[in-house]
Order: sequence, then C-alpha cells, then structure tokens
Amino acid sequence: MTVARVIGIDLGTTNSCAAVVEGHDQKVTLIPYKGGSFTIPSIFAIDEKGNELVGHEAKRQWQLNPRQTVYGSKRLLGRQYDPNLAEKMHQYFAYEIKSSQAEEVEVPLAGREFSLQEISSKILQKIKDVAADYLQAPVTRAVVTVPAYFNDRQRQAVKEAGRMIGLEVIRVINEPTAAALAFGVGRALNKELVAIYDLGGGTFDISVIEIRDRVFEVKATGGDVFLGGVDFDNRIIDWAVSEFAAKNPGVDLRLDPIAMQRIKDMAERAKIDLSTRQDVPFNIPFVTVTPEGMPLDLDLKLSRAQFENLTQDLVASTMETCTRVVADAGVTTADIQHVLLVGGQTRMPAVQDAVTRFFGRSPSKQVNPDEAVAVGAAMFAYSFEDDSNLRVQVLDVIPMAIGIADATGKLYEIFKRNESVPNLKTVNFTTSVDGQQDLQMRIYQGDHVDQASKNEMLGEFTFSGIRIGPAGSVRVEVAFNLTQDGILEMSANDRDTGAEMKTTVNLGVAKGA
Ligand code: AMP
Repeated sequence: MTVARVIGIDLGTTNSCAAVVEGHDQKVTLIPYKGGSFTIPSIFAIDEKGNELVGHEAKRQWQLNPRQTVYGSKRLLGRQYDPNLAEKMHQYFAYEIKSSQAEEVEVPLAGREFSLQEISSKILQKIKDVAADYLQAPVTRAVVTVPAYFNDRQRQAVKEAGRMIGLEVIRVINEPTAAALAFGVGRALNKELVAIYDLGGGTFDISVIEIRDRVFEVKATGGDVFLGGVDFDNRIIDWAVSEFAAKNPGVDLRLDPIAMQRIKDMAERAKIDLSTRQDVPFNIPFVTVTPEGMPLDLDLKLSRAQFENLTQDLVASTMETCTRVVADAGVTTADIQHVLLVGGQTRMPAVQDAVTRFFGRSPSKQVNPDEAVAVGAAMFAYSFEDDSNLRVQVLDVIPMAIGIADATGKLYEIFKRNESVPNLKTVNFTTSVDGQQDLQMRIYQGDHVDQASKNEMLGEFTFSGIRIGPAGSVRVEVAFNLTQDGILEMSANDRDTGAEMKTTVNLGVAKGA
C-alpha cells in the first residue's frame, strides 16, 4: 500500500522548494525539478500566445515580457490594496497591480484579473504536480511555510491558494520555526536557545526559539515583509542608473523597460558574485539607444566595499529588529547558543559579519540556508502522517498584536505581540442601545496601538441574533480563538442563555473606512 505523503513546501518570494520524508531511514528528500534543480522560481507569467508559464519557463522570458510576468508576488499575498503599496511595488516590478472589488490586490494579465491567491496557487500547482510525479502518487496535503511576520490574512491567503487547486494546507508554519526543526530534530538538545536570522528574496525574519528535544517553543519573533534580497538588488540598480545618467546626460534608463530588466538581472548577478569576489564588472552592451538612434553601453565596475556602502542601512535595520526581538524574548545574546542563517541573502559576507558581531558567535554551519525551511517543513509534514514515528511539538507566537478598535479609535489588544498560539480569550460586551440586535467589531492586526485604523484590518465581524432588551441588559461573550496556524476564529454567545450567535465576516471593508 502506498502511503499518501504529506509534503513540506517552502513557498518563497523568489524561489520555492518542496521536500518529503521517505524511505525506511526516513530521510528528508528535496523534490527535484526537471533539469535537476531543487527550487523553482516563484514566477507566473502569461506569454503573448496566452500560455500560462510557471517557474523556470516564466523566468526565462521575463526580460522580454516584464509586464505580464509576476514575480515577488508573495509580498502582495493577502494584502489589502492601498496606493502606497502600489507605488512601492512599482519601484520593484513592471507588472501592474490594482484593487479588486473586495479591496484586495489583484494583477491584470492578458485581459483577466488574477488574485494573488490564484497566482500563488499556480506555483503551488506546479510544485504539487512535480511532487506527485516524483512520488508516483497523488499529493493532496501539505505543510506550507510563511514568514513569521505574516499576519492572519496572509496566512489565510496561503490556505486559500491551496484550496483552489485541491491541496489541503494542513498547517502553515513559520519559516524560522521550520528551519529550527531542520536543525533541532535528531540533535536531542536540552533547553537550548537558537536565533534564526532569515533574510530571503523579499522578507526578513528573526526568531528566538527554545529547543527542548522535540519541543520547539518560539520565544519571540519579528521582521519586515518589505526587506529582502530585492532591496539589495535595487540599490545596485539605482547606482547603475545614476552612474549611467552622469555619463549620458538626458538619457533616462528608467524609461526603457527592457533596459531596466537587463539591469535588474545584472544587478542580482553582480550581487551574488560579490559574495565571493572583491569586485565585478557591470557591463551591458547596447543597453539603450538615444532618441537619435545611437546605441549606448553600460560600462561600470562595482566593488564589494562600494556595494556594502550602498546597503549598510539595510543590514543595520535588520540588526535593529534583532535587538528588539532578543529583548522581547526576555534574554540577552549571551544566552543564545546557536545562530542559524536562512535565506539566500545571508550569503553576503557583510550580513554574516553583522550577525556574528551582534550575537557574539559565528553562525552554525549545520543547516543549508536554501534548504533548511523546506527540510523542516517536510519533517513537520511527516509528523502528521499516519505511519509516522516522529512527534514534534511546535509552540509558536503571533508576530503582531490582534485587537479591536475601541470607542476612541485606539487598538484594544486582545492578543499582544509574541503571545503564544494556539490561544483562546473571551471578552464580554454589553449592549449599548435598547433593542440592540447585533454587535459589530473590526479586528485589526499590527503594532499601532494608538490608532487602530493604522493597522491591517483582518475583517469586520457581525454577531447577530442578540436577545432584545434594554441597553446594558444583554451580555455577549465573544471568543477569540487563535489557531495553531496563527489564524483568528471568532464566535459569540449570550452570556446568560448560552445561545450561540450567528457570525458573519466581511473581509472586504476598506482600511480605516
Ligand atoms: P531565498 O528567498 O531564500 O531564495 O533568497 C533569495 C535571495 O537571495 C535573492 O535575492 C538572491 O539574489 C539572494 N542570493 C542568493 N544567493 C546569494 C549570494 N551568494 N549572495 C548574496 N545574495 C544571494
């Protein structure tokens, strides 16, 4: 009998990777793609013939088709549309984003609107197909990793992306927690603290996790969903464009999308090369043409020292987050026994040096920064299989407070930042007007306590069917249930009769409306 495997998926901003535990020795295997690589670019595109392309195929054509090629989409998944976000994304990407009717971000491609869930589902579909091919069995269940800093909506969006293609995401698990599993399972650690510094293509996370044999307890976590490798690339792009402008007054490379794509590609390659070299050439022949039709070359050189200069504030900002998270964990860096580096951008020597200085110890070489997250996800996935003998316990936390707007517009925190999940809290409300039949509340997630509407709104909940009575006479008990996935579920009942109230959730209400 073949056992239906639960696979682990690292759905990355830049690249995605899947792994599975198999065989008698329960080895973790990374699932290979055609061509032998273990990762696929998290890119979806529609070519001029209307074909949908995913992964390597999509990446191969992005220079020629930048406006119909969606990359870095994880940054947008589960987010409400707002013009600032659109402007920020424009600095990174050539594809368009707009607001859906429900005020979520969507991408118009080839005459159709795609939700970010749908785009992620295309990537998940590819992973699912390749895994099924590899395992010679259908794949219907997975553990998917997300940045620890993902909020409730972003986590829900990942689950929904899975649902769209018949893939049950049985658990979303935080990327650093997955990396800690990859490190800690089989090591029989006895109450040791591990810091996981995860700087990937588009996001940054830092978590402090205590490992007690098979128990992984997250002490604190923090990060930035808008800080990652792409920002390092962008600094090189800005530099190249301004150097070019200085040499060629009046020619603005930013107006030439094909030139910009080539510079983007070159910037990433130069950045990667600078991790092992002291300087790199930055040449693109015939990068653009003047209005008179004269071809112009980009002919520059970038040194590691220059690059470090261009990006030192980015590295410094990750260190500020580290300082906060270590304090939130209630420890000092001296208490932390192991430091793990995760994410491709941690291969940059200046990042490694800064981490080493901050924690006062060299990062562990025991985990592979590109694979640890998928490996840990696969281990966790395996623990859900019927024939599994691996039991692990993950005690995670929420990255940002969850609360409701109070009468003055402030955030009344139901769960504070870094509170443990799963978690259940109840809050009592009383009716404020005679004959009140429903109770409405807007739930927010974020760290802006003084103004609730500055946070991400998770939804507007309406509890209806309240017993009719004079103001103040009916007490409603609302239960806020944070699931293991860090997702909020709510219910309400009449405190006196116990009667359950009907709950409706409206996710599509404009921020701050
Ligand atoms: P990930 O999301 O973990 O796949 O990380 C991808 C990011 O790591 C991208 O921004 C890559 O450009 C970056 N990256 C990969 N390899 C290196 C390297 N050797 N040096 C610096 N950055 C790298």
